[in-house]
Amino acid sequence: MDRYIRFSNNNKIHYGLVNGDKVSKLMGEEFQDFEVSGIEYDLSSVKLLAPCSPTKAVCVGLNYKDTILEPGAKWPVEPLLFIKPSTSLLNPGESIIKWPMTEDLAFEAELAIVIGKKAHLVSEDDAHKYIWGYTIANDVTAKDLQKTDGLWARSKSFDTFLPLGPWIASGIDAHNLTITSLVNGQQKQKGNTADLIFGIEYLVSYISHITTLLPGDVILTGTPGGYGSSLDVNDKVEIEISEIGTLTNYCKRSTDTWSLAPRHKSI
Ligand code: MG
Repeated sequence: MDRYIRFSNNNKIHYGLVNGDKVSKLMGEEFQDFEVSGIEYDLSSVKLLAPCSPTKAVCVGLNYKDTILEPGAKWPVEPLLFIKPSTSLLNPGESIIKWPMTEDLAFEAELAIVIGKKAHLVSEDDAHKYIWGYTIANDVTAKDLQKTDGLWARSKSFDTFLPLGPWIASGIDAHNLTITSLVNGQQKQKGNTADLIFGIEYLVSYISHITTLLPGDVILTGTPGGYGSSLDVNDKVEIEISEIGTLTNYCKRSTDTWSLAPRHKSI
């Protein structure tokens, strides 16, 4: 298994390959072009960033067999997709912002597939050739806005709503991994990727028939049962996936000036 990171050192951003407690700086901008530079840093001395720089995160809703459907809801016969913008990306260890527009923030533990090679109209059999590896994602959702809006663009897209990392595990079999989420040390979700309804290769193939996937793009494969727990200011949220690691983030309020003008409700 190889572990790829994206990190900053002296205000410059690099990709690196982890080797024990060291990281080897990589030359090149994409997985296919990477070459080991021979320059090494102590892993503890660099700042870890989200491990790739996606142009988009394509996300799947309702994709675990252990999800309890809300009354009246049905299982999708095809993957139910939505997109999170690249600007929602958050680094490991940083804080998810509870923006003033939402009262009810939730986290969702998810396995993320990282694309390594431009994928357009890819077959399920060939899908593995386009996968760089796997990382951990938190599909942060403003649940109150998700309910009122119907469409999910607003509730899923705020800045900081896509924590990703801490690294990309490459060369692992991701078909039987345990996913756990914890808030302040207390377990909230537990699932296994063996229970995915639409599997990894199918998702890469299906999505590549809708939108071209570019190197560094991610597919969030959905969250297991027990999701929907709220996240509050000062909470610590950890997502663990076996063979990959742990993604840790915190929650805080925005300190930015909120300059949205109030709108008349009668319109
Ligand atoms: Mg989700």
